[in-house]
Amino acid sequence: MRFYDLIIKKKEGQKLTQEEISFMVKEYSKDRIPDYQMSAMLMAIYFQRMDINEIKYLTMAMVHSGKIIDLSSIPGIKVDKHSTGGVGDTTTLALVPMVAAAGVPVAKMSGRGLGHTGGTIDKLESIKGFKTELSLNQFINIVKKVGASIISPTSDLAPADKKLYALRDVTGTIDSIPLIVSSIMSKKLAAGADAIVLDVTTGSGAFMQEYKDALKLGKIMVDIGLELGKETVAVLSNMDEPLGFAIGNSLEVKEAVEILKNRGPEDLRNLCLILGAHMLKLGGAVKNYEEGKDKLEKILKEGIAFNKFKEMVTAQGGNPEIIDNPELLPLAKHSTKIKSDISGFVQKIDSRLVGESAMLLGAGREKKESKIDLSVGIVLKKKVGNKVNINEDLAEIYYNDSEKLKEAKKKLFSSFVIKNIKSQKLPLILATISKEGIKEWK
Ligand code: URA
Ligand code: CA
Repeated sequence: MRFYDLIIKKKEGQKLTQEEISFMVKEYSKDRIPDYQMSAMLMAIYFQRMDINEIKYLTMAMVHSGKIIDLSSIPGIKVDKHSTGGVGDTTTLALVPMVAAAGVPVAKMSGRGLGHTGGTIDKLESIKGFKTELSLNQFINIVKKVGASIISPTSDLAPADKKLYALRDVTGTIDSIPLIVSSIMSKKLAAGADAIVLDVTTGSGAFMQEYKDALKLGKIMVDIGLELGKETVAVLSNMDEPLGFAIGNSLEVKEAVEILKNRGPEDLRNLCLILGAHMLKLGGAVKNYEEGKDKLEKILKEGIAFNKFKEMVTAQGGNPEIIDNPELLPLAKHSTKIKSDISGFVQKIDSRLVGESAMLLGAGREKKESKIDLSVGIVLKKKVGNKVNINEDLAEIYYNDSEKLKEAKKKLFSSFVIKNIKSQKLPLILATISKEGIKEWK
């Protein structure tokens, strides 16, 4: 088999066989296919796409480029959750202890932030002492003891994806559905969960800005999960404005703690309840979705999820006092507010611009190697649908470096669209996709 012939085959719109796709992933992983040839193949896939079988073969080849984590020693059905990325998306931090407190073990590997989106691992590292790099044994033991653990992916988790993602990043081939699906699903499958709940974001802050593209992405991810023997549910959620109020690492930990104290922003709380209810159902802890929601509300009210988070933090070397007193989290030296120059109603808060503003302050990375400032970020004072008076606060910026402030402030200000006509609160969930089919809510 010659890789050159496979490039031509895909370029002409033909389907690649399982054998050909395995060959491609194996040889590329072993550095026996040069980046320039792989780049041509990625672009061919971008334009010619892949059918469901090709995506399945690609996903499995990527899973087998590394080790599949064996979680079978942990009793119960292990349910994983994945978000396709957002701005101010603190969900994992609150959701994992909630689900664990309801009796479904969660062994979760999470990523770092890149570009305008944040990452759970960075957020957790703002808790002093918290270790995100554990051995597989330590990880599994914590899940057995506490019911939940969140760590960075081990280096042998779908290593082909690491290499391919880096190449996609510099060849304009990130936003290809077959490549996104195989990238995400290979990591979920290699991470060893029995069932998967996907939060597919759509809107200004998401990969898939258009609803119909997000729906297509969600449908194919669910199909691939089911094809490969894992119960999979996808929820399409709105990322047309940031989630909750806080954007920035330590600020988002504080916000997650608010949720766990049965307070906090309504949208974030609801998303946690909805994703959590699906996780409890797949995990066999409840009979149906409604029962799952009720159970989680009770768990929040009784403070059980809050205690579970403290247990997890302690088990991973973090200082649990910080969870009791989030004031102990790193906080930026300065803060300033942006104010509205007109009266009206908030029509839109462009998530991407807010994310980029937080990145300029130092909360996010421009490149994989960039160092981030865990203490800086943004707290929104208004959300879409809110009334705002002239000179009223729109958001507060927490910063350390005044040189970075000016541009960040400008960007944040430009993210708000305010007009003198009533606006509606955005719907949180747009569709749910499962083996029963697609339910559209809008
Ligand atoms: N997240 C991933 O892990 N991979 C993609 O391709 C896109 C989003
Ligand atoms: Ca938030």
